[in-house]
This record gives sequence, C-alpha cells and structure tokens, in this order.
Amino acid sequence: MGKRGADFIHYPTWSEARFWTFVRSALRSAWNRYPVKFEVLKEAYVCTKENIKTGKQAKHYRCNECKELFPAKEVIVDHIEETGALKCYADLPRFVERLFCGKDSLQVLCKDCHNAKTYKERYGKDR
Ligand SMILES: [Zn+2]
Repeated sequence: MGKRGADFIHYPTWSEARFWTFVRSALRSAWNRYPVKFEVLKEAYVCTKENIKTGKQAKHYRCNECKELFPAKEVIVDHIEETGALKCYADLPRFVERLFCGKDSLQVLCKDCHNAKTYKERYGKDR
C-alpha cells in the first residue's frame, strides 16, 4: 500500500481520493444521460448500413477527426476541451461547467481518434 492520503471526514472508511473518485463516477453517469450528448450523436448520424463486424444493420456515425463512418459502439461523444481534474471542492464548478457543456463544445470521435487525442492531452505529443 502506498502512502494513505487524508480521510474523507463524513465517512473516514474512505480516503479523500476515494470520495472524489465516487463523485466523478456519479457525475459521469449523469453525463451518460445528458440530452445534449444524444443531440450531438444524432447530428453525426449518416446512414444505417451493415456493421462489418457483426453483419447486422446498424446506425453509422461520422468521426469528426478521420471522417470515417462507425457504428454507435465505436464512437464516443468527446469534450473538445478537457473537463480537467476533480480532486477537491475547488475543482467542482469548472468540472461541472465543462462536463455539462453546450453542443459546440462536443464532437463525435471514433475510438482510435479519441485514444489518440487522449494520449496527446496526457503526454503532450502524438503516439
Ligand atoms: Zn476517427
């Protein structure tokens, strides 16, 4: 075990870090029901055609980066600007404002383009 951080005062069984992981995950599941997310996805819809992996008819969406078409399972509604960290109360307003942003701050990316973008944000360079 690494060095244990501060306890979360309302429930000392949790560390402060565990508490913020819990809050982030709660907000992320709200994000999964955020109507703006579905509007952005709907706007990226191009056509329904055969999913080459499953052989079934599936809705296909255009990736805003590589411009290729992908079924829903292979695309992500991405925050153009990173939501940033949420590790303390002071981070909350900015995190919530960026997570629940307007349509213009969101884009549909395929998994590969999303992974490349995440990598670049994390390491400051292309893979
Ligand atoms: Zn792509």
